[in-house]
Amino acid sequence: MKDSFGRKINYLRVSLTDRCNLRCRYCMPEEGIDNKISHQDMLTLEETYNLIRHFVELGIDKIRFTGGEPLVRKGIIELIEKVNKLEGVKEITMTTNGLLLKDMGQSLKDAGLNRINISLDTLMEDKYKKITRGGKLSKVLEGINEATRIGLTPIKINSVLVGGFNDDEIQDLVNLTKKGIDVRFIELMPIGEASNFAQEKFISNHRVIEDVEGLIPMVKEDPSSPAKYYRLGGATGKVGLINPITCKFCTDCNRVRLTSTGRLKLCLHSNREIDLGKALRDGEDIKKVILNSIWTKEESHHLEENKYIDRNMNQIGG
Ligand code: SAM
Ligand code: SF4
Repeated sequence: MKDSFGRKINYLRVSLTDRCNLRCRYCMPEEGIDNKISHQDMLTLEETYNLIRHFVELGIDKIRFTGGEPLVRKGIIELIEKVNKLEGVKEITMTTNGLLLKDMGQSLKDAGLNRINISLDTLMEDKYKKITRGGKLSKVLEGINEATRIGLTPIKINSVLVGGFNDDEIQDLVNLTKKGIDVRFIELMPIGEASNFAQEKFISNHRVIEDVEGLIPMVKEDPSSPAKYYRLGGATGKVGLINPITCKFCTDCNRVRLTSTGRLKLCLHSNREIDLGKALRDGEDIKKVILNSIWTKEESHHLEENKYIDRNMNQIGG
Protein backbone atom coordinates (compact mmCIF):
# COMPACT_ATOMS: atom_id res chain seq x y z
CA MET A 1 0.00 0.00 0.00
CA LYS A 2 1.49 3.33 -1.03
CA ASP A 3 0.36 6.88 -0.36
CA SER A 4 0.51 9.73 -2.85
CA PHE A 5 4.06 10.60 -1.72
CA GLY A 6 5.32 7.10 -2.49
CA ARG A 7 5.59 6.05 1.15
CA LYS A 8 4.95 2.37 1.82
CA ILE A 9 2.34 2.01 4.59
CA ASN A 10 2.81 -1.29 6.40
CA TYR A 11 2.23 -0.44 10.09
CA LEU A 12 -1.19 -0.19 11.77
CA ARG A 13 -1.66 0.96 15.35
CA VAL A 14 -4.98 -0.19 16.75
CA SER A 15 -6.49 1.42 19.83
CA LEU A 16 -8.78 -1.15 21.47
CA THR A 17 -10.38 1.11 24.05
CA ASP A 18 -10.19 4.62 25.45
CA ARG A 19 -10.70 3.26 28.97
CA CYS A 20 -7.86 2.72 31.38
CA ASN A 21 -7.11 1.31 34.82
CA LEU A 22 -4.87 4.34 35.52
CA ARG A 23 -5.41 8.10 35.31
CA CYS A 24 -2.01 9.49 34.36
CA ARG A 25 -2.10 13.22 35.05
CA TYR A 26 -0.88 14.23 31.59
CA CYS A 27 -3.21 11.84 29.74
CA MET A 28 -6.63 11.35 31.30
CA PRO A 29 -8.99 13.38 33.46
CA GLU A 30 -9.31 12.16 37.05
CA GLU A 31 -12.95 11.15 36.57
CA GLY A 32 -12.09 8.98 33.55
CA ILE A 33 -14.01 9.10 30.32
CA ASP A 34 -17.65 9.76 29.53
CA ASN A 35 -19.17 6.27 29.31
CA LYS A 36 -22.09 7.26 27.12
CA ILE A 37 -19.95 8.88 24.47
CA SER A 38 -17.33 6.18 24.44
CA HIS A 39 -19.79 3.32 24.12
CA GLN A 40 -21.92 4.90 21.44
CA ASP A 41 -19.93 3.81 18.44
CA MET A 42 -17.20 1.61 19.82
CA LEU A 43 -16.16 -1.13 17.40
CA THR A 44 -16.94 -4.68 18.46
CA LEU A 45 -13.97 -7.05 18.48
CA GLU A 46 -15.43 -8.76 15.41
CA GLU A 47 -15.52 -5.42 13.57
CA THR A 48 -11.99 -4.60 14.73
CA TYR A 49 -10.79 -7.97 13.44
CA ASN A 50 -12.56 -7.47 10.11
CA LEU A 51 -10.95 -4.08 9.59
CA ILE A 52 -7.51 -5.45 10.54
CA ARG A 53 -8.01 -8.31 8.08
CA HIS A 54 -8.70 -5.87 5.26
CA PHE A 55 -5.61 -3.84 6.17
CA VAL A 56 -3.44 -6.97 6.25
CA GLU A 57 -4.74 -8.09 2.86
CA LEU A 58 -3.69 -4.68 1.56
CA GLY A 59 -0.12 -5.01 2.88
CA ILE A 60 -0.06 -4.11 6.58
CA ASP A 61 2.41 -6.54 8.19
CA LYS A 62 3.04 -4.92 11.58
CA ILE A 63 0.27 -4.31 14.11
CA ARG A 64 0.51 -2.61 17.50
CA PHE A 65 -2.35 -2.76 19.98
CA THR A 66 -2.72 0.21 22.26
CA GLY A 67 -5.41 2.23 24.05
CA GLY A 68 -6.42 3.52 26.66
CA GLU A 69 -5.13 0.40 28.28
CA PRO A 70 -5.39 -2.46 25.76
CA LEU A 71 -5.26 -5.14 28.46
CA VAL A 72 -8.57 -4.00 29.99
CA ARG A 73 -10.40 -4.79 26.72
CA LYS A 74 -12.20 -8.11 27.14
CA GLY A 75 -11.43 -10.61 24.38
CA ILE A 76 -8.00 -9.21 23.53
CA ILE A 77 -6.31 -12.64 23.72
CA GLU A 78 -8.76 -14.13 21.21
CA LEU A 79 -8.33 -11.12 18.92
CA ILE A 80 -4.53 -11.49 18.93
CA GLU A 81 -4.90 -15.22 18.26
CA LYS A 82 -7.05 -14.52 15.19
CA VAL A 83 -4.85 -11.69 13.89
CA ASN A 84 -1.79 -13.90 14.32
CA LYS A 85 -3.35 -16.43 11.96
CA LEU A 86 -3.73 -13.88 9.15
CA GLU A 87 -1.35 -14.54 6.29
CA GLY A 88 1.15 -11.70 5.93
CA VAL A 89 1.32 -10.59 9.58
CA LYS A 90 5.01 -10.41 10.56
CA GLU A 91 4.85 -8.71 13.93
CA ILE A 92 2.24 -8.08 16.65
CA THR A 93 3.22 -5.72 19.45
CA MET A 94 1.52 -3.78 22.23
CA THR A 95 1.91 -0.60 24.26
CA THR A 96 0.68 -1.12 27.82
CA ASN A 97 1.04 0.32 31.29
CA GLY A 98 2.06 -3.21 32.34
CA LEU A 99 -0.24 -3.50 35.37
CA LEU A 100 -1.95 -6.68 34.12
CA LEU A 101 1.07 -8.16 32.43
CA LYS A 102 2.09 -10.55 35.18
CA ASP A 103 -1.25 -12.34 34.92
CA MET A 104 -1.80 -12.04 31.17
CA GLY A 105 1.76 -12.22 29.77
CA GLN A 106 1.85 -15.95 29.05
CA SER A 107 -1.58 -15.99 27.38
CA LEU A 108 -0.58 -13.00 25.25
CA LYS A 109 2.65 -14.69 24.22
CA ASP A 110 0.83 -17.95 23.42
CA ALA A 111 -1.72 -16.02 21.34
CA GLY A 112 1.06 -14.61 19.16
CA LEU A 113 2.16 -11.30 20.71
CA ASN A 114 5.83 -10.79 19.81
CA ARG A 115 6.96 -8.01 22.14
CA ILE A 116 5.80 -5.09 24.25
CA ASN A 117 6.42 -1.47 25.13
CA ILE A 118 5.70 -0.61 28.75
CA SER A 119 5.06 2.94 29.91
CA LEU A 120 6.91 3.81 33.10
CA ASP A 121 7.89 7.33 34.12
CA THR A 122 9.44 6.73 37.54
CA LEU A 123 11.11 3.98 39.56
CA MET A 124 9.81 5.28 42.88
CA GLU A 125 6.61 3.82 44.31
CA ASP A 126 5.26 7.08 45.79
CA LYS A 127 5.92 9.08 42.62
CA TYR A 128 4.34 6.37 40.47
CA LYS A 129 1.24 6.48 42.63
CA LYS A 130 1.14 10.27 42.26
CA ILE A 131 1.60 10.57 38.48
CA THR A 132 -0.82 7.70 37.70
CA ARG A 133 -3.29 8.73 40.44
CA GLY A 134 -3.15 5.48 42.37
CA GLY A 135 -1.13 2.90 40.39
CA LYS A 136 1.18 0.37 42.04
CA LEU A 137 4.76 0.39 40.73
CA SER A 138 5.46 -3.09 42.13
CA LYS A 139 2.79 -4.50 39.78
CA VAL A 140 4.51 -2.97 36.74
CA LEU A 141 7.91 -4.27 37.85
CA GLU A 142 6.41 -7.76 38.26
CA GLY A 143 4.98 -7.38 34.75
CA ILE A 144 8.41 -6.43 33.36
CA ASN A 145 10.01 -9.45 35.06
CA GLU A 146 7.34 -11.75 33.66
CA ALA A 147 7.70 -10.33 30.15
CA THR A 148 11.47 -10.87 30.36
CA ARG A 149 11.01 -14.42 31.67
CA ILE A 150 8.65 -15.51 28.91
CA GLY A 151 10.52 -13.71 26.12
CA LEU A 152 8.19 -10.86 25.16
CA THR A 153 11.43 -9.14 24.22
CA PRO A 154 13.19 -6.84 23.55
CA ILE A 155 11.18 -4.84 26.07
CA LYS A 156 10.96 -1.10 25.49
CA ILE A 157 10.19 1.21 28.41
CA ASN A 158 8.55 4.50 27.39
CA SER A 159 9.14 7.36 29.84
CA VAL A 160 7.51 10.73 29.46
CA LEU A 161 9.80 13.40 30.89
CA VAL A 162 7.95 15.85 33.14
CA GLY A 163 9.95 18.79 34.46
CA GLY A 164 10.20 18.87 38.26
CA PHE A 165 8.78 15.36 38.49
CA ASN A 166 11.09 12.74 37.00
CA ASP A 167 13.95 14.72 35.44
CA ASP A 168 16.01 13.74 38.51
CA GLU A 169 15.61 10.04 37.60
CA ILE A 170 17.02 10.14 34.07
CA GLN A 171 20.23 8.30 35.03
CA ASP A 172 18.31 5.62 37.00
CA LEU A 173 16.00 4.99 34.04
CA VAL A 174 18.97 4.88 31.63
CA ASN A 175 20.61 2.29 33.90
CA LEU A 176 17.79 -0.15 32.99
CA THR A 177 19.56 -0.52 29.62
CA LYS A 178 22.29 -2.42 31.49
CA LYS A 179 19.65 -5.15 32.01
CA GLY A 180 19.01 -5.37 28.26
CA ILE A 181 15.86 -3.21 28.36
CA ASP A 182 15.50 -0.36 25.84
CA VAL A 183 14.49 2.94 27.45
CA ARG A 184 12.89 5.65 25.34
CA PHE A 185 12.30 9.18 26.59
CA ILE A 186 9.30 10.92 25.10
CA GLU A 187 8.77 14.65 25.33
CA LEU A 188 5.51 15.67 26.95
CA MET A 189 3.04 16.92 24.36
CA PRO A 190 0.72 19.82 25.27
CA ILE A 191 -2.43 17.95 24.32
CA GLY A 192 -5.35 16.60 26.31
CA GLU A 193 -4.82 16.92 30.05
CA ALA A 194 -1.23 18.09 29.56
CA SER A 195 -2.42 21.22 27.76
CA ASN A 196 -3.18 22.65 31.23
CA PHE A 197 0.34 21.97 32.53
CA ALA A 198 2.68 24.84 33.41
CA GLN A 199 5.40 25.65 30.88
CA GLU A 200 8.22 24.37 33.11
CA LYS A 201 6.84 20.80 32.94
CA PHE A 202 7.72 20.66 29.24
CA ILE A 203 11.40 19.89 29.06
CA SER A 204 13.46 18.91 26.08
CA ASN A 205 14.75 15.37 26.08
CA HIS A 206 18.09 16.92 25.20
CA ARG A 207 18.36 16.89 29.01
CA VAL A 208 19.12 13.18 28.69
CA ILE A 209 22.24 13.95 26.65
CA GLU A 210 23.26 16.67 29.10
CA ASP A 211 22.69 14.59 32.25
CA VAL A 212 24.00 11.18 31.24
CA GLU A 213 27.69 10.75 30.61
CA GLY A 214 28.99 8.34 28.00
CA LEU A 215 26.01 8.03 25.66
CA ILE A 216 27.23 6.88 22.26
CA PRO A 217 25.02 7.77 19.24
CA MET A 218 23.96 4.77 17.17
CA VAL A 219 23.41 4.50 13.43
CA LYS A 220 19.66 4.47 12.70
CA GLU A 221 18.60 0.92 11.81
CA ASP A 222 14.94 1.62 11.01
CA PRO A 223 14.33 4.89 9.11
CA SER A 224 10.62 4.87 10.04
CA SER A 225 11.38 4.79 13.80
CA PRO A 226 10.67 8.11 15.51
CA ALA A 227 13.49 7.51 18.02
CA LYS A 228 17.12 8.56 17.81
CA TYR A 229 19.14 5.90 19.60
CA TYR A 230 22.18 5.98 21.87
CA ARG A 231 23.97 3.34 23.91
CA LEU A 232 25.86 3.36 27.19
CA GLY A 233 29.23 1.60 26.88
CA GLY A 234 28.74 -2.01 28.01
CA ALA A 235 24.92 -1.87 28.11
CA THR A 236 22.90 -4.19 25.87
CA GLY A 237 19.76 -2.05 25.84
CA LYS A 238 19.42 1.19 23.87
CA VAL A 239 18.46 4.69 24.98
CA GLY A 240 15.97 6.31 22.59
CA LEU A 241 14.97 9.94 22.38
CA ILE A 242 11.62 10.77 20.84
CA ASN A 243 10.61 14.33 20.21
CA PRO A 244 7.09 14.07 18.82
CA ILE A 245 6.74 17.78 18.20
CA THR A 246 9.80 19.22 16.53
CA CYS A 247 11.24 15.99 15.21
CA LYS A 248 10.16 15.39 11.65
CA PHE A 249 10.24 11.78 10.58
CA CYS A 250 7.34 12.34 8.21
CA THR A 251 9.29 11.49 5.04
CA ASP A 252 9.80 7.94 6.33
CA CYS A 253 6.39 7.56 8.01
CA ASN A 254 4.94 4.10 7.44
CA ARG A 255 2.07 4.12 9.94
CA VAL A 256 -1.63 4.82 10.28
CA ARG A 257 -3.91 4.55 13.30
CA LEU A 258 -7.32 3.04 13.96
CA THR A 259 -9.22 4.38 16.99
CA SER A 260 -11.49 2.23 19.15
CA THR A 261 -14.48 3.93 17.50
CA GLY A 262 -13.27 2.87 14.05
CA ARG A 263 -11.81 6.19 12.89
CA LEU A 264 -8.76 5.98 10.67
CA LYS A 265 -6.14 8.60 11.56
CA LEU A 266 -3.58 9.04 8.84
CA CYS A 267 -1.36 11.38 10.89
CA LEU A 268 -1.08 11.55 14.69
CA HIS A 269 -0.91 15.33 14.54
CA SER A 270 -3.93 15.90 12.34
CA ASN A 271 -7.58 16.14 13.38
CA ARG A 272 -8.70 14.54 10.12
CA GLU A 273 -10.33 11.12 10.55
CA ILE A 274 -12.10 8.71 8.23
CA ASP A 275 -14.99 6.74 9.70
CA LEU A 276 -14.17 3.16 8.74
CA GLY A 277 -16.56 1.77 11.36
CA LYS A 278 -19.48 3.45 9.60
CA ALA A 279 -18.21 2.37 6.18
CA LEU A 280 -18.06 -1.22 7.45
CA ARG A 281 -21.58 -1.06 8.88
CA ASP A 282 -22.90 0.55 5.68
CA GLY A 283 -21.52 -2.35 3.68
CA GLU A 284 -19.12 -0.20 1.66
CA ASP A 285 -16.16 -1.66 -0.19
CA ILE A 286 -13.72 -1.33 2.73
CA LYS A 287 -10.56 -2.04 0.75
CA LYS A 288 -11.45 0.75 -1.65
CA VAL A 289 -12.19 3.14 1.24
CA ILE A 290 -8.85 2.26 2.88
CA LEU A 291 -6.85 2.65 -0.33
CA ASN A 292 -8.48 5.99 -1.15
CA SER A 293 -7.88 7.21 2.39
CA ILE A 294 -4.23 6.15 2.46
CA TRP A 295 -3.73 8.10 -0.77
CA THR A 296 -4.72 11.27 1.11
CA LYS A 297 -2.25 10.77 3.99
CA GLU A 298 -0.77 14.12 4.99
CA GLU A 299 2.74 14.81 3.69
CA SER A 300 3.90 16.11 7.06
CA HIS A 301 2.62 17.67 10.25
CA HIS A 302 2.60 21.39 10.91
CA LEU A 303 3.00 21.68 14.66
CA GLU A 304 5.18 24.74 14.26
CA GLU A 305 1.87 26.52 13.67
CA ASN A 306 0.95 25.47 17.22
CA LYS A 307 -2.10 23.54 16.15
CA TYR A 308 -2.58 20.55 18.39
CA ILE A 309 -4.95 17.67 18.02
CA ASP A 310 -8.26 17.80 19.87
CA ARG A 311 -8.28 14.27 21.25
CA ASN A 312 -6.61 13.04 24.45
CA MET A 313 -3.84 10.47 24.15
CA ASN A 314 -5.99 7.75 25.75
CA GLN A 315 -8.26 8.09 22.69
CA ILE A 316 -5.59 7.72 20.03
CA GLY A 317 -3.04 5.53 21.75
CA GLY A 318 0.06 7.66 21.23
N1 SAM B 1 -2.12 2.74 28.38
C1 SAM B 1 -1.02 2.38 27.58
C2 SAM B 1 0.27 2.94 28.11
O1 SAM B 1 0.23 3.83 28.98
O2 SAM B 1 1.31 2.50 27.62
C3 SAM B 1 -1.17 2.72 26.11
C4 SAM B 1 -1.78 4.04 25.74
S1 SAM B 1 -0.89 5.50 26.26
C5 SAM B 1 -1.94 6.79 25.66
C6 SAM B 1 0.48 5.50 25.12
C7 SAM B 1 1.63 6.40 25.47
O3 SAM B 1 1.21 7.77 25.35
C8 SAM B 1 2.16 6.24 26.90
O4 SAM B 1 3.55 5.92 26.85
C9 SAM B 1 1.96 7.61 27.52
O5 SAM B 1 2.97 7.92 28.43
C10 SAM B 1 1.95 8.52 26.31
N2 SAM B 1 1.29 9.81 26.53
C11 SAM B 1 0.07 10.06 27.02
N3 SAM B 1 -0.18 11.39 27.06
C12 SAM B 1 0.93 12.01 26.57
C13 SAM B 1 1.31 13.37 26.35
N4 SAM B 1 0.49 14.37 26.65
N5 SAM B 1 2.54 13.61 25.83
C14 SAM B 1 3.39 12.60 25.52
N6 SAM B 1 3.07 11.29 25.70
C15 SAM B 1 1.88 10.99 26.22
FE1 SF4 C 1 -3.85 5.07 30.88
FE2 SF4 C 1 -1.72 4.93 29.29
FE3 SF4 C 1 -3.10 7.23 29.54
FE4 SF4 C 1 -1.69 6.38 31.61
S1 SF4 C 1 -0.86 6.96 29.61
S2 SF4 C 1 -3.84 7.12 31.67
S3 SF4 C 1 -1.86 4.21 31.42
S4 SF4 C 1 -3.84 5.37 28.65
